[in-house]
Amino acid sequence: MAVMDASAEQLAGRADNAFRARFGRDASVVGIAPGRVELLGNHTDHNRGLVLAAAIDRHTCVAAAPNDSGRVRVWSDTLDARDEFEITSLSPLPRGSWSNYVRGAVAALIDAAVPLRGFDAAIVSDIPLGGGLSSSASLECAAAMAILGLFGDEAPSPPAGMDLADRLKDAEQTFAGVQCGVLDQFSCLLGKQGHALTLDCDTLLFQTVPLGSTPPAIVVCDSGAPRQLAKGKYNERRSECEQASVALHQLNPTLPRGIVPSLRDIPMHIFVDQQSLLELVPARRARHVLTENQRVRTGVEILRRAADVRGLGQLMLESHRSSRDDFENSSPELDLLIDLASRQPGFLGGKLSGAGWGGCTVNLVETEHAESFAENVSREYSSRTSLKPSIMICHAADGARAKTAEDLGSEI
Ligand code: ADP
Ligand code: MG
Repeated sequence: MAVMDASAEQLAGRADNAFRARFGRDASVVGIAPGRVELLGNHTDHNRGLVLAAAIDRHTCVAAAPNDSGRVRVWSDTLDARDEFEITSLSPLPRGSWSNYVRGAVAALIDAAVPLRGFDAAIVSDIPLGGGLSSSASLECAAAMAILGLFGDEAPSPPAGMDLADRLKDAEQTFAGVQCGVLDQFSCLLGKQGHALTLDCDTLLFQTVPLGSTPPAIVVCDSGAPRQLAKGKYNERRSECEQASVALHQLNPTLPRGIVPSLRDIPMHIFVDQQSLLELVPARRARHVLTENQRVRTGVEILRRAADVRGLGQLMLESHRSSRDDFENSSPELDLLIDLASRQPGFLGGKLSGAGWGGCTVNLVETEHAESFAENVSREYSSRTSLKPSIMICHAADGARAKTAEDLGSEI
């Protein structure tokens, strides 16, 4: 049996304790799911493009046991909050309720013919909530793993892999009301220690790619800057990309197109020839998306060929420049974080991550330099901005799984 990484092991133990404290008996299973980072492929998902991501060693753990009823009783230790609902009359709570992610996972597995009965569950997590590391997908995946651990053996064909990711993505859309793509659930489920993952958001084909025999640390720097404008800007960028896609499809009516026509259908040479015919702003947005797809292709190739993390770092820096100049979703704080990072020993590359306009950067740093990198960037950023960044040193980790109480006992 693979030994869990230390942080997941500890957290699973904490979930077990939280369950015992809350429900007065032992849990029989713990569902464990990592968070995730985007390494390359910024804003490519809504253009049906390519992404390079990694699951990271920050987790959500859901300890659970059947309760001989038709009800689910769930306790979030993270939020100090509870919810209770009937399996047979499952519906979402008002938008924004944390338990919708659990209700959604339950609904997704009922839909997949898993013969669910009532159960109790306790959730613990060391992923910051709402910080862009996908705590929501991690919660859904950990809950799904716990439920499959309890009842999956009785299912005719328990869902797994991309099928499960797709079902949980639908659940997040229906229950939490978030129009997310499948990337988050995919990364949380299919991550692999020491590897990155690439996903084609058009075909849903994916593969894992190695980060080398001594994989670099993945250092996440949260700028701590407010992101009030992000939602409006996000929608604006989506429509600018669509505008570019419509114009390019009109100029090239015979070009093969996906089910939903998008920038993904446009070959780079056609864009290069015709970009001057587009309006200036949509042309720049399209250039970011198309070059970003190209960077993912190159990144996957160099990792597969030689686990070239130095080359990957360079591509991440190019990605950041493209976000800053063409997609215009950076911020002075994110640019400063990358600038400070690039002066540190052991830095291989970095970029803004997620929607942008604040939020986080993701950096590849040689492991032996990771601690001093975090200290230096934190100190210099604070002195230049009077903001306190929060910095997490992570590593590429395995995807979601369930452990029985015996598994945990033997690993501790
Ligand atoms: P992200 O996925 O980037 O962390 P989201 O806004 O998509 O941000 O998801 C965060 C939400 O997910 C939280 O506000 C909460 O409702 C839910 N959530 C995540 N982890 C937990 C947890 N451990 N306990 C309860 N709710 C959680
Ligand atoms: Mg989320």
